[in-house]
Amino acid sequence: MQQSQFFENALSDPIFRTVSQAAKNLNLESYVIGGYVRDYLLNRGSAKDLDFVAVGSGIELAMEVSQLLPGRPKVSIFKHYGTAMLKFQGLELEFVGARKESYHEDSRNPAVENGTLEDDQNRRDFTVNALALSLDDKQFGKLIDPFNGLQDLKYKILKTPLDPDITYSDDPLRMLRAIRFATQLKFTIEKDSLESIKRNAKRIEIISNERIVEEIHKILMTDVPSIGFTLLHQTGLLPYIFPELIALEGIEEKEGQLHKDNFWHTLEVVDNIAQTTHELWLRWAALLHDIGKAPTKRFDKKNGWTFHGHEFVGSKMVYKLFKRLNMPLNEKMKFVQQMVLMSSRPIVLATEVTDSAVRRLIFDAGEHIDNLMTLCEADITTKNPKRFKKYHDNFKRVREKMVEVEERDHIRNFQPPVSGEEIMETFGLSPSREIGIIKDAIKEAILEGEIPNEYEAAKTFMYRKAKELGLKEVNR
Ligand code: ATP
Ligand code: MG
Repeated sequence: MQQSQFFENALSDPIFRTVSQAAKNLNLESYVIGGYVRDYLLNRGSAKDLDFVAVGSGIELAMEVSQLLPGRPKVSIFKHYGTAMLKFQGLELEFVGARKESYHEDSRNPAVENGTLEDDQNRRDFTVNALALSLDDKQFGKLIDPFNGLQDLKYKILKTPLDPDITYSDDPLRMLRAIRFATQLKFTIEKDSLESIKRNAKRIEIISNERIVEEIHKILMTDVPSIGFTLLHQTGLLPYIFPELIALEGIEEKEGQLHKDNFWHTLEVVDNIAQTTHELWLRWAALLHDIGKAPTKRFDKKNGWTFHGHEFVGSKMVYKLFKRLNMPLNEKMKFVQQMVLMSSRPIVLATEVTDSAVRRLIFDAGEHIDNLMTLCEADITTKNPKRFKKYHDNFKRVREKMVEVEERDHIRNFQPPVSGEEIMETFGLSPSREIGIIKDAIKEAILEGEIPNEYEAAKTFMYRKAKELGLKEVNR
């Protein structure tokens, strides 16, 4: 029999004494369990979401806790799930009654009956997520660890409490959670578990897209997202989620010419960008920036391998992919599309940096120009140190030029220096095609550097253009 271990320090926040008192009032056992305990023992700082188990009614415990707290925070009750939640001082407290679960093949929502703490620990996903600390004041902080999760924490191992085939098949979302925790915590998925995920991969089909996307977001937001994507690939889950990425895998050779493996390249790009931005959607853009390369791949004798128009095709695929995964088709999606569409623009520029090309790039990328440059820099994955330096130097020149051009020409938040109203008034026009033509000509002249981005110059240009169109100034 192992000696009991106590972790009272984990429970120094007064909230734990409050829950303890509430449980005592109701004559219940209560525990804090899961992510909070795990993260404390890993020194990952204190999680803000706390999970409590009551041996009895979790909902009643939540209500009693609320009674004891200043301001009596509102308790949200999820009757169907037998859980309750309340928010207090930036913490989110979740309460559940200890339970036994039994699953039906076509759903991850189990039939539930009341159970013991041990039953409840059995239904948890990983041994390191089943660690519980007692809130009973006679054994406050005592660790209840039936599966030796403490040792798995020490050796950084993800292992299911029960037979992995049961745990994963019951709720296939756990396969993604395994991969997400492996990526976040840099843990290893135990061999049996990994084999089981491979066997059960197809079961992911019963999981809603929303839950899948949530895990993908979390994987993307880690320091080294490629760990997760490599595991998704290795376990056979990736084709169910991102067939577009699998299609990028492989190197073909024709007439002695090779192209790079765009799947593994993409993962390197994602890792690179994880070093330079915490913007989730820019990380998505990195993940998807080359997806148009599979359908556009061609070989011809003169040019070798080409991927003409892959940026355009890719940006259309972004829409389909978001739609398939039930992701919102909103500004974020448009941003990802724009990044994919423009992902080669700065590269073309890098060889010859002219003022007008820089102005056009700034104009087209608008407020996202910095993000676009960050993406392009992350796209440099050459292993040749000379080329690596050269490409980065090129982009540095582009960035310098951008600053210089922007200071002078203010293209970034381009506002037409002469408004449509002014054009209408000057020439006595009602809304018509001519106004668009003149405005467009002014914009083009500015981007080309024919005139500066200034009112007087634009107005002079407007008169010239109007004359060409046969328009006459009206007297006012
Ligand atoms: P994080 O909050 O960092 O995502 P976590 O481990 O706290 O990690 P939550 O989703 O907050 O994860 O869940 C809290 C606890 O509930 C987990 O630690 C685990 O014990 C249990 N749990 C959550 N989801 C599942 C699941 N799908 N199957 C089994 N147990 C789960
Ligand atoms: Mg949590």
